Amino acid sequence: SDIIIALDGFSSCGKSTTARHVAAALHYAFLDTGAMYRAVALYFHRQQVNTADLQAVKEALAHVEITFEFNPSKQASDTILNGENVEGEIRKMYISDLVSQVAAIPEVRHAMVAQQQRMGEKKAIVMDGRDIGTVVFPQAELKIFMTAEPHIRAQRRKLELLQKGEDLPLEEIIENLRKRDEIDSNRSEGPLKRAADAIDLDTSYRTMDEQVEFVLDHVRR
Ligand code: C5P
Repeated sequence: SDIIIALDGFSSCGKSTTARHVAAALHYAFLDTGAMYRAVALYFHRQQVNTADLQAVKEALAHVEITFEFNPSKQASDTILNGENVEGEIRKMYISDLVSQVAAIPEVRHAMVAQQQRMGEKKAIVMDGRDIGTVVFPQAELKIFMTAEPHIRAQRRKLELLQKGEDLPLEEIIENLRKRDEIDSNRSEGPLKRAADAIDLDTSYRTMDEQVEFVLDHVRR
């Protein structure tokens, strides 16, 4: 029967790619919750929202509509912000540098978590993020907590950015990952944390196929 699969963990451990492949194998939906926080960060950046002003944050959130649109050429969903396809923009480094501060705002989290819970109502979904197994779906039938060694994560991220046309020094990428993990782990609401009943998956020395198999193997149990 249909279940909810929560994939949580640190930045650049391969969560989204793993989640996408697992979803495809099971004919499940897939939701990249990080894309939602990235879209909010982009909106706040463009509107120059003062993140210290709670009223301004609430006002801005009321004008944010995030949807997803299947892109057949990629066999994956693009992120749509208020009708605009922002998939390319939200993956850029300047958004990675902003997103964790925005995602730490409780009002932002409440709005995103509520939407994520609606999207998972019918189960048969793989969701990747930081707080899926702890906050969004603490009752998820399968929770995986993904880790990888920092230098491997940085290298993977560098390659990913390079493929998208951003050639950044490894040092800058390492620093971004370190900072995001720190902010994500220490915020008051929905901190990045391993759920007590999560299964650990270290992706440092696993291929993508092996990671996907690992998750599918636990689905079959
Ligand atoms: O998954 P990704 O690295 O794209 O996520 C970008 C950022 O969004 C994370 O660093 C984190 O600050 C935030 N995020 C979050 N909760 C989630 C997913 C992402 O706070 N469930």
